[in-house]
Amino acid sequence: MRHCGAMSGHHMDPEEFRAHGHALVDWIAGYLERVEDLPVRSRVAPGAVADRLPASPPEQGEPFADMLRDVDDIVVPGLTHWQSPSFFGYFPANSSGPSVLGELLSAGLGVQGMLWSTSPAATELEMRVLDWLRQLLDLPDRFGWDGAGGAVIADSASSANLCALLAARHRAGGADPSLVVYASEHTHSSVEKAVRIAGLAADQLRLVPADAEHAMRPDQLDRLVREDQAAGRRPCMVAATVGTTSSMAVDPVPVIGQLCSRTGIWLHVDAAMAGAAAVCPELRWIHEGLQRADSYCVDAHKWLFTNFDCTAFFVADRDALTGALSVQPEYLRNAASDAGEVVDYRDWQIPLGRRFRALKLWFVLRHYGAAGLRHHIREHVALAGELADRIRRDDRFELVSSVLNLVCFRHRAGDATSAAILEQLNASGAIFLTHTRLDGRYVLRLSVGQTRTERRHVELAWRLLSAAADAMVADNRER
Ligand code: PLP
Repeated sequence: MRHCGAMSGHHMDPEEFRAHGHALVDWIAGYLERVEDLPVRSRVAPGAVADRLPASPPEQGEPFADMLRDVDDIVVPGLTHWQSPSFFGYFPANSSGPSVLGELLSAGLGVQGMLWSTSPAATELEMRVLDWLRQLLDLPDRFGWDGAGGAVIADSASSANLCALLAARHRAGGADPSLVVYASEHTHSSVEKAVRIAGLAADQLRLVPADAEHAMRPDQLDRLVREDQAAGRRPCMVAATVGTTSSMAVDPVPVIGQLCSRTGIWLHVDAAMAGAAAVCPELRWIHEGLQRADSYCVDAHKWLFTNFDCTAFFVADRDALTGALSVQPEYLRNAASDAGEVVDYRDWQIPLGRRFRALKLWFVLRHYGAAGLRHHIREHVALAGELADRIRRDDRFELVSSVLNLVCFRHRAGDATSAAILEQLNASGAIFLTHTRLDGRYVLRLSVGQTRTERRHVELAWRLLSAAADAMVADNRER
């Protein structure tokens, strides 16, 4: 190694990179070995991390070892450990060995895949790997490349929801104040954000009332669409959710799809979290009715062992999407694009530039194989089901809902007790879970989906919940 210490201005040469790279991979492997023992929720106070960072950048270059030391000393204490097997909050943000290596390779290659011609492999691998995913999830043929459809890796379901809206609006003839978008009252906040970014007014989004299971009521959707049509407005898109963020509710896509087909409304299905379950044939009921969808998205970065960011976004009519997003400056013109022979992914997303995200998904699908993915998803769903059974049988708790790998429940003593249990457990650092509100009541959410979560972690979570509930009751009695 020629430059092992600080030396201002020099590039890290391949020899140095190899040494530091090995050290970093060792560090990550060590982190994954010990993450289970770290307090899941970070305990730092606001500003504590910032206080330990110099206010100004270094004038002279610093040794890599110093950076790695600061990662341990300053960064790690300020982390909530999403890769802890006792992380049960929000929805999971999966990562895995093959995925991290794919991400590293993407950074190492450093190619821009904005056009087919700027790196043909980036585009063609992405097209193929997304078609693998289509087959793995048994998605309709209309999302495949053989017909008018296709797919792209987006940075997030939020972006996919926005792009779906832009495509729907394009098909409806472009921006128009009479356009209306529909989604259930439990839709993800990114739909409302997409409506805003697309320049629609707040009253161009209708939040459709949900039923007792928190799924969109198709009769209410039908009523709202008819009212809007009667008033001369133009229904443009329905965003249905398969697996809502609060409680994993599944909107009735078959009936919604019939309404959309009859009225010419674009149907977008947001399956950001739940879609991954469809790798298991017995869970494919979640995709019933998808044949009528115009677009669909699922986050491989939630529950498919691929680190953020990796949203698979499928469309039935790729021309509607590229029609909405394609702009042709002279400086990007090239023979392959001009001949119309290739897919240029810049026309499928908001930014121009894009990194080689397909590598990590490719590595993940090849490492686990379909059988491996099915095994882990099944395990998570089974563990959540077992926990839901325990909660159902326990008279201290009320089971509010249990769908796939998400269990929602509350303490029968009410909102304050449920909230106190959550805070006590999260403060302990032993596990981490989050909450929502359903029907006006405070509800605990426990999502089983972290890459390395096993039965023992869910059993520990139950023991801690149970003990916290007992402690609350004893505490209340003493007061
Ligand atoms: N849609 C649903 C149903 C979600 O649950 C989430 C996140 O939890 C999103 C969209 C947003 O996901 P992303 O972070 O990929 O934008």
